[in-house]
Amino acid sequence: MSDTGVDPGQAAQSGTHRAPLAGGVKRELGVKDDGQPGPLVLITAGLHGNEPAGVGAARRVLSELAGRPTAGRVVALAGNLGALERGERHGGQDLNRLWTEPLLRELLDQDPTVDGPDEAELRELHRIIQAEREAAEAAGRNVLLLDLHSTSAAGGPFSVVPDVLDCRRLARAIGLPVVLGLEQRIEGPLLTWIVGQGEVGVVIEGGQHVDPRTEDVLSDALRAALRYAGVTPSGESGAEEARARIEAIRGDVPPVLDMVYAHPLEAGDGFVMEPGWTNFRPVRSGQALGLQRGEVVQAPIDGYMLMPLYQGLGTEGFFLCEPVGGAWLGASRLVRRLGLEFTLRILPGVRAVRPDGDGVWCAAGASRRTEWWLALFGYRTPKAEGDQVLWTRRGNG
Ligand SMILES: [Zn+2]
Repeated sequence: MSDTGVDPGQAAQSGTHRAPLAGGVKRELGVKDDGQPGPLVLITAGLHGNEPAGVGAARRVLSELAGRPTAGRVVALAGNLGALERGERHGGQDLNRLWTEPLLRELLDQDPTVDGPDEAELRELHRIIQAEREAAEAAGRNVLLLDLHSTSAAGGPFSVVPDVLDCRRLARAIGLPVVLGLEQRIEGPLLTWIVGQGEVGVVIEGGQHVDPRTEDVLSDALRAALRYAGVTPSGESGAEEARARIEAIRGDVPPVLDMVYAHPLEAGDGFVMEPGWTNFRPVRSGQALGLQRGEVVQAPIDGYMLMPLYQGLGTEGFFLCEPVGGAWLGASRLVRRLGLEFTLRILPGVRAVRPDGDGVWCAAGASRRTEWWLALFGYRTPKAEGDQVLWTRRGNG
């Protein structure tokens, strides 16, 4: 089972326990600020308590920065302290599913003395992040979020971003395979909330929880991201070497992929995945991938495997990704920068484009072709409204 930070559904059922982090964890894992101009880089680690590799990576990279000149401000925060100490994902509420405005407002209006354990963690984390963001705004700093996670399934590491140009650029600079089309499947991750506030962010899935290489991968991703953000100078930060190691891990996996198929499961399906599948292994259409209700499950398309389900219960058996070509990426940059949203009105099924460009109304059941064009412009999140569907995009598109 995957515990990806943006996993649409499998994670909720995860009861994966692992050894607690020895020595306890404090909220603040490290701060580096030489008083120089530059961005605010927020690193969050261990939002899921059974994912301590991010905590180790944040500590390691912050200690490397000590005594070296840096620009901007770097703040590394541990997520679910109680769950990290217990070595479990959460204490009843997933700390990476609560970042929606209604849930946050409900929590902030609530008497703190009745907070459950995860709610108390969320309240404190939210307070620190907001204070940092306000100070950054006053100082004219851009804000970047690097949210570190790991998975219970084996397989290649990857990054997840909403399809927002600045987020894509950050993820490409890190160099792990970038998965689009996954973030919008779930409610309430920290990433979605902060990008919705106009900031830039990425989730980094460093590999398997128990694999010692996961902390190395997350450390390299942080080094590459800090160089990209301009926190560390070029040439002497180890970022180039980090980036080369990440390139070697990525191998011939496409640099950007779109998650286009999620295999649905229902209780009692008795789904069994064929053995041996790992992230980004190529899949041929028609290939047998598992058994469900006694029937062979065949791949509906050619693509790349993502998050095959091997442990416990899940709402998806596996995901399939398609590579995203450079031409599509270039065209999407162009149409978004030029603000050509109004041209979408000529597409079949499109009824209106919101004047602020933040949404497009379509007739229900838009064609795949129309959906392709909507995605090109960054509209990837559908919401039914009466007999039509409102498609929205994250952040600034
Ligand atoms: Zn996670």
